[in-house]
Amino acid sequence: MTASDVSHIRNIGIISHIDAGKTTVTERILFYSGETHKMGEVHDGQAVMDWMPQEQERGITITASATSCRWGEHRINLIDTPGHIDFTIEVERSVRVLDGAVAIFSAVEGVQPQSELVWRQADRYRVPRVCLINKMDRLGADHEHVLRQMEQRLAARPVLLQLPVGTEGGFSGVIDVVEEEMIVFSETDLGRTVERKPVPLQHEEALRNARLAVTEAAADFDDQVMSDFLEGRAVESERLKLALRRGTISCRIFPVLLGSALRNKGVQPVLDAVCLFLPSPLDLPAMIGRHPGSGEAESFSCDANLPLRALAFKVMAEEGRRLTYVRIYSGRMKQGASVLNPGRGAGERIRHLFRMHAHRREEVPEAVAGDIVAVAGCQATLTGDTLCDPEHPLLLEGVAVPEPVVSVA
Ligand code: GDP
Repeated sequence: MTASDVSHIRNIGIISHIDAGKTTVTERILFYSGETHKMGEVHDGQAVMDWMPQEQERGITITASATSCRWGEHRINLIDTPGHIDFTIEVERSVRVLDGAVAIFSAVEGVQPQSELVWRQADRYRVPRVCLINKMDRLGADHEHVLRQMEQRLAARPVLLQLPVGTEGGFSGVIDVVEEEMIVFSETDLGRTVERKPVPLQHEEALRNARLAVTEAAADFDDQVMSDFLEGRAVESERLKLALRRGTISCRIFPVLLGSALRNKGVQPVLDAVCLFLPSPLDLPAMIGRHPGSGEAESFSCDANLPLRALAFKVMAEEGRRLTYVRIYSGRMKQGASVLNPGRGAGERIRHLFRMHAHRREEVPEAVAGDIVAVAGCQATLTGDTLCDPEHPLLLEGVAVPEPVVSVA
């Protein structure tokens, strides 16, 4: 895997209050990305619709701690972050492994206490987020209210990137404020791409105002956007996206999209936004580790050519086999390699490396810095332990995730 491939990795979690739609959104993500259904096999929309409930009965809900899926040229590693309040410690552990997150709110219930808690944890670890206001089809859906709650209760600066077309049961699409197009969602067309149309006349004024608001928010992160904004010039959408990306990665703004996951509306744009606005592992600044003997700190970047440093973030028993989920921060992890757990002074053997998908595990010969894989073969390693090159021991425990920097690439 090359550096440009790593720039296409997104290690993300989905955070929300219970019932906001995390399970439904996750299922749709795996579906649209072809993980639970090979795109193109089913041409008849109804067949696709029939397929979904069946799959749900069989329980496609992911059980893996990190499930990998593809979205265009990107690989998205979805890391399971338990949303239940009892699992706060687990959430914190997972958050350390995430580079970004999708935060889901219900358009009816809005910001709830638990969303507040998880949001603050994400703030603490400086995890950039894109937000989905879900359940736009429900009676009483009020995304404006949710935006105000985000400002007041989460002290966040949300940036609404879509306007709804239709309300409640009539919610049928959105106006994409950045691309200035209307996105029409059909409940039966479950493809990877969504239908885009010119913006109808009656939405033009609302679009103009919304675009002005988005430009104003983006102006803080790009001088060109700022001068265009101040002088009343139109801002090119690519420039706008770049500025929004900078703001999002620095956790100063939070792009907000609208949808109804249950009605198959609005999840594909969330995946596009994940790829567009959330950081890749290369966007993270140097990590810091500690030498086990001297205690001396060493900083290092996400580089496959450096010695191996990885963090075990979840240990699970699956089919009688112990699987250790690791996030690799530098170097390469190879099948058959011997690695060191410096915290326990234990040597470990990487017997098998797996990329976990919704329905299958894919054995891979090696994984590189930036990636997330499951390892079979570790005996002594527990959640939170470091695994590293035995020749270059370094401990990652207690590593704070520093503020991400923005790559312009
Ligand atoms: P989780 O607890 O966050 O994982 O939420 P679920 O995905 O299990 O959803 C909770 C409930 O809300 C379920 O009954 C879903 O069918 C329903 N639900 C999820 N998304 C939507 C939506 O967009 N619209 C409506 N009306 N219901 C939804």
